[in-house]
Amino acid sequence: MLSWPKPPGVSRQAACHFCDTLHEFSPVDEGMAARCVRCGGLLYQNRPASLARASAFSLAALLLMALAHVFPFLTMDAAGMRRELTLTGAASALMDEGAPVLGAAVVLFTMITPVMLAGGMIYVCLPLMFGRAAPGARVTTRWMYLSEPWNMVEVFLLGVLVSLLKLAKVADVHFSIGFWAFAGVMLCMAGAVAGIDREELWDRLEVADS
Ligand SMILES: [Zn+2]
Repeated sequence: MLSWPKPPGVSRQAACHFCDTLHEFSPVDEGMAARCVRCGGLLYQNRPASLARASAFSLAALLLMALAHVFPFLTMDAAGMRRELTLTGAASALMDEGAPVLGAAVVLFTMITPVMLAGGMIYVCLPLMFGRAAPGARVTTRWMYLSEPWNMVEVFLLGVLVSLLKLAKVADVHFSIGFWAFAGVMLCMAGAVAGIDREELWDRLEVADS
């Protein structure tokens, strides 16, 4: 069991996100959380097996992402014709049919960003399990958290579901393996990001560097 390390010689304060009360920062035991003394709001928490959890979910997300690209996303039967749609096929169709910005956004926010986020998580968290910081781990972590709001896998899936409701009237639409794999990517990405507290990750990097 890895306890949350306390960086030597570092004194800092944690502000409550809800009422702004300042607290002296101190690491908490595994499975425990620090709460605001004034309003009880969550300040930060030490999730059990955080590094292993973040790495495992990220690895699963990458594997599922590969499956989502290899297998068709949707199968459509209309007027005796069967058409299989892949993720990249959908993006390139958008680009070809007069919506290049939307096509590029789909590629960037649903393919490149999740891969960067999951890859970064593995790159940073895996060596930290052995008490080491990978070269450039701090820069990677900063970029990882900057890219996090742009990971829009769930927005894309919701958009697909909404448009399918309309499409189902004119064609027989089936979800294929790629779709389920992509839904798995969404769950794993959520698990990876929620697997480790930001404060904990920065503290672990601080101790591993020193
Ligand atoms: Zn508070």
